[in-house]
Amino acid sequence: MDLATIPSVAARSRSVPHGCGMTLLSWLCVAWVLCTPVVLAQTPLSPRELFEQLNGVSVDPAQIYVLRDVQVTRDRANFYFNRGFIGLFTAVTGEVTGAVFIGEGEVLLMPPDPVERQSLAHFTQSPILEEQFTSAYLRFTDQTAQEILARARRPHPDDYEQPTGFAEHWNSIVHSLNPEYSTRILMDFLGDRDTPCFHAYLQGVNLGVFEVDVDGRLPEAVRAGAVRRSHGKAYADLWCSFPSQRSALRLPALLVGSAQVLSYKVDTRINPDHSLEGRAELELESRSSADRVIAFELSRLLKLTEVKDETGQPLTVLQNPSLEESEVTARGNDWVVVVLPSPHPAGEKYRLIFSYGGNVITDVGKGVLYVGERGSWYPNRGLNPRGVYDLRFHFPEQLTLVATGDRVEEKASEGVKHSRWISREAIPVAGFNLGAYVSRTRHARNAVIEVYAAREAEASLEKRHVEAQPPGGIIVQRSPHGDVPIGVIPKSVAPLDPAALLDRVAGVAASAVQHFETLFGPFPYPRLSVSQIPGYYGQGWPGLIYLPTLSFLPEAERSRLGLGGKSDDYLNELAVTHEIAHQWWGNDVGWQSFRDQWLSEGFASYAAALHLAREREGERKFRELLRSYKADLLRKTEQGNTIESGGPMWLGHRLSNSLNPEGYTNIVYKKSCWVIHMLRAMMSDSASGSDEKFFRMLRDFLATYHGQYPSTRDFIRHAEKYMTRDLDLDRNRKLDWFFADWVYGIGIPAYKLGVSTRRSGPKKFIVEGTIEQSGVSADFEMLVPVVAIFEKDRKVLLGRVVVGDTGGRFRFTATSKPARVAIDEDTILAVVR
Ligand SMILES: [Zn+2]
Repeated sequence: MDLATIPSVAARSRSVPHGCGMTLLSWLCVAWVLCTPVVLAQTPLSPRELFEQLNGVSVDPAQIYVLRDVQVTRDRANFYFNRGFIGLFTAVTGEVTGAVFIGEGEVLLMPPDPVERQSLAHFTQSPILEEQFTSAYLRFTDQTAQEILARARRPHPDDYEQPTGFAEHWNSIVHSLNPEYSTRILMDFLGDRDTPCFHAYLQGVNLGVFEVDVDGRLPEAVRAGAVRRSHGKAYADLWCSFPSQRSALRLPALLVGSAQVLSYKVDTRINPDHSLEGRAELELESRSSADRVIAFELSRLLKLTEVKDETGQPLTVLQNPSLEESEVTARGNDWVVVVLPSPHPAGEKYRLIFSYGGNVITDVGKGVLYVGERGSWYPNRGLNPRGVYDLRFHFPEQLTLVATGDRVEEKASEGVKHSRWISREAIPVAGFNLGAYVSRTRHARNAVIEVYAAREAEASLEKRHVEAQPPGGIIVQRSPHGDVPIGVIPKSVAPLDPAALLDRVAGVAASAVQHFETLFGPFPYPRLSVSQIPGYYGQGWPGLIYLPTLSFLPEAERSRLGLGGKSDDYLNELAVTHEIAHQWWGNDVGWQSFRDQWLSEGFASYAAALHLAREREGERKFRELLRSYKADLLRKTEQGNTIESGGPMWLGHRLSNSLNPEGYTNIVYKKSCWVIHMLRAMMSDSASGSDEKFFRMLRDFLATYHGQYPSTRDFIRHAEKYMTRDLDLDRNRKLDWFFADWVYGIGIPAYKLGVSTRRSGPKKFIVEGTIEQSGVSADFEMLVPVVAIFEKDRKVLLGRVVVGDTGGRFRFTATSKPARVAIDEDTILAVVR
């Protein structure tokens, strides 16, 4: 495969929704600049000229060398250039930032962490990356050029191989790859030089084109991966990723990069054609006394017209090169880069004012509008950390607009409505939605709930609705050869009416808020707006929920449109309650990195399941839901592996990749729902069945981490404070064994139960037996619930049995003879044989 055809994995960090990897600066680096005199690069070139020169670098025909047995080591990655030719790039302000190599090379990379070794093996069939390569494109801001020059020699006229046409061969590839790296290199050129980067884009002999990056500005500095396609879609497969071994200290809880946004003042005008004009004033606090280049997320559909500092001076802005649609899918959101005239000392506050405009609002017909490019309708620095928002909107009078925060003002004049929304405390993200809505209001104990829906469904659903109608009467003409159809009498079709279900959705929302308050504590915001968006997916913002039109349609209607069924359970009220639960899990309490996102999605999914259990026949629905989640996890991928085996929950969004496109939704939503359910079951009192301790643990967790970003580790240490003696398998007051199995590990265990029951006295029966374990690794241990089933399916927990690789034994007593003894498949994610 040609190097030039493959987009870079380097950009993947930008698709992580809660932080811009490209701009995250390691804490160590911040500490360094605080205590070291800063030497600024003196350059006569403007930032834009530098950027353009970096885009334009090419192989310097005068700098082509022969390489023999040169080793370049970057962190844990070793590159061996055994024999071949290397061409250095033309210098920018005297510095060489790249090179290309043709010949025989080898890369060796050993992840320090067992989870990452397993992930690497999942993609490459080996826990160690050991691959020969035949060509390489290298970009760097470190001493690579000097290291190479020290070991290279000029090609000799008598060499039997000659690098003829080397530069010509490479330059078109080089020019297409350069823009991917220019911004990152510019950051070092204009800022802190203590955390250089080294990117290698390699043509492997067995693995095809892949990348190895070592970049000290990333929270996980060392990464290897490749862009792969599956069914026409590009996936940025991240094979392994881990922090630099230079970080003797663990990385801090919050990586804030070179600047943190403290507050946002966003003024948004929505024109009658639904185009948007925005002005955003961001108050920032500098986190680095050396860095001048700051990246912001902003939809590529919005054109940035200007960025000014608080004195009114326009600043240099660099926007992404235009990307192909397929690349955008793999790379995620768009970014703009602002270059400050000079760095601000760490701790100094300053303001930037952005002006932009474009079309991020889609009108899908029938008064259904849709704010596309969800998180990036205003310039922001990702979900971490939180900021305070003051949002002003000006929009056509006939529309209703709902946004995050409290509506403190709304007035209309000359056909335009003006409204202002202020968040009372710092929130991770702000959103808004608008439409020709009708609404309902309900009151829960601590919050006002407003539900908004359009009178009619969006045009595409309406079309589907009309097409799904049975044909009307057929007009036939009698002929000697039989009846000939000559036309159809159309039936009149009543349009879909989402607004008709407002009361139902409002009722579900109010009951969920009240229910979750008893489980998780007070609703975190004064108000909850639930608003309709077209399509299939919902999203929860602080105090604002987007709900797909389909959730507003009755179940019968959804299945008639061919959109029902178990796999679409997300579309029914689970969608409403899942998003409501995110107000506690995700918005009020966030997650530290992509590895910890299961906390947010798992608790949202589990809370939704718990609410389902309160409906009529709820217990049955709850059991069925969890069984369907198990079936989804056990489903096979095209490679014949179960979806669950795609990787541990701890890998977060990386679980969706070319080998397992549905990995993330299944593992991070459905497996984590099961894991939380098992924790609850195991923390419940085995005699009374009370789960009070579990929910007390959750309420305490939410209160402790209010407004913060806890990690998986934080959750484990917290849960241990509430653990029972039974849960202490390793006799060390730790739950590590449970999380090692279920969060850091893979595998759904299979159990085989052998049991015998005998009478040992009046009203006394001995139930004893063994449980065999298979299908999981040898160190997998679990507390397996054994139940006695009596007449009328009455189920009584006999106890939990410690089962490991060598199996488990049990002996329980019962006062009457059970009809059957079984492993309780309702409270353990397992295959019972
Ligand atoms: Zn969710």
